[in-house]
Amino acid sequence: MKIIVQKFGGTSVATPEARLAVKEKVQKAIRSGFAPVVVVSAMGRNGDPYATDSLINLLKEANLSVNVRELDVMMCCGEMISSCVMAATLQKCGFNAMALTGGQAGIITDSTFGAARIKKIDTTYLLRILESGVIPIVCGFQGTTENNGKFTTLGRGGSDTTAAALGAALKADLVEIYTDVDGIMTADPRLVKEASILKQISYGEVCQMAHQGAKVIHPRAVEIAMAQNIPLVVKSTFSDAPGTLITNANGDSEATGENINEHKIASGVTHLTNLTQFKVVLDKNDFASGRKLFEDLADAGISVGCLNLSEETALFAVYENDFAKTQQVLTETDFDYHFNEKCAKVSVVGGGMRGVPGVMANFVASLNDANIAILQTVDSDTTISAIISEEHVTDAVVALHKAFKL
Ligand code: ADP
Ligand code: MG
Repeated sequence: MKIIVQKFGGTSVATPEARLAVKEKVQKAIRSGFAPVVVVSAMGRNGDPYATDSLINLLKEANLSVNVRELDVMMCCGEMISSCVMAATLQKCGFNAMALTGGQAGIITDSTFGAARIKKIDTTYLLRILESGVIPIVCGFQGTTENNGKFTTLGRGGSDTTAAALGAALKADLVEIYTDVDGIMTADPRLVKEASILKQISYGEVCQMAHQGAKVIHPRAVEIAMAQNIPLVVKSTFSDAPGTLITNANGDSEATGENINEHKIASGVTHLTNLTQFKVVLDKNDFASGRKLFEDLADAGISVGCLNLSEETALFAVYENDFAKTQQVLTETDFDYHFNEKCAKVSVVGGGMRGVPGVMANFVASLNDANIAILQTVDSDTTISAIISEEHVTDAVVALHKAFKL
């Protein structure tokens, strides 16, 4: 049995027309000789009645707070509604389809509500369903705990993770991630109208892009697929465009971080917003002051990024939701500090930049020419990022996209 996992995001299942487009994709897979496993997200985006954010807002608007366990029960409802509606749509079109919760599909997680990790997947039942010719419609983003079957959710982008994890557990030939754009693009098309589709990209590069803000696919999903070398394709529900194939550079199990688009220095430009940059003054004569700073932040459970430590200063960035806590820690521990609120991080990502001189020069020059102040840079062998003021994010992404000839 050749298995394909087909994941459909919120907009792909939002309307009756969209769900008929989903049916076409499922039918096409069957015609190509695959047994499809369908994974669905909740229907629509915030504001639509059964979208995850709308469900959370039901509680917020009524001024009700629930504990994390109940919040996960609430958040699982969106996918359950979606899977039932999708199963019914397929049944009406003459297919034999069956809605399954994450737990019914065998997905067992730990009990970290809101950000659960998949511990194992028992594929027995799913395989039995597939062998009897039924199409399982699995709720994305959710699982259950092992002992008492509590509902858990996998965090933002969790349906991508469900699809990749099912693909790995079922040893699928292919995992398709269907969304509202034609594939992974050289930048978010909402910011750069000239952004183009990448035909192919390596797991390593797309993982970097996803970590640096390209929200078209979740990095965890890429990591899971990479570990088992399962090809992923990101494509549109609403067109016949071939999409983006994510594999190893050489189509083998080696060289996972390599660059497929060899002629290019960079594969994409990404951005993250809602950051605050902190500059902390350290005591040059006290070796331990930097150490103390990061220990204090760690003790407070604050996750810090964009780190830069020297004898005299420490630079780092935190997300908006950790801002108040960070300020409190720094004030209580008597550090002198400044901060820049409303910052963004813009990044150029590409396996082709390794060891190439002039990449940083091009990066800095393009932001300079656009009159954008660089507050800090950070880099790895396949990424250069700058912290800038959030108001310049679109201009910066557009400038870098042009400068790196994407
Ligand atoms: P879904 O609900 O299908 O999971 P998402 O909203 O999570 O959809 O992801 C699709 C969106 O990701 C696109 O509409 C696009 O605006 C955004 N996006 C951000 N960066 C990129 C990129 N580099 N390539 C393609 N899309 C991107
Ligand atoms: Mg998504």
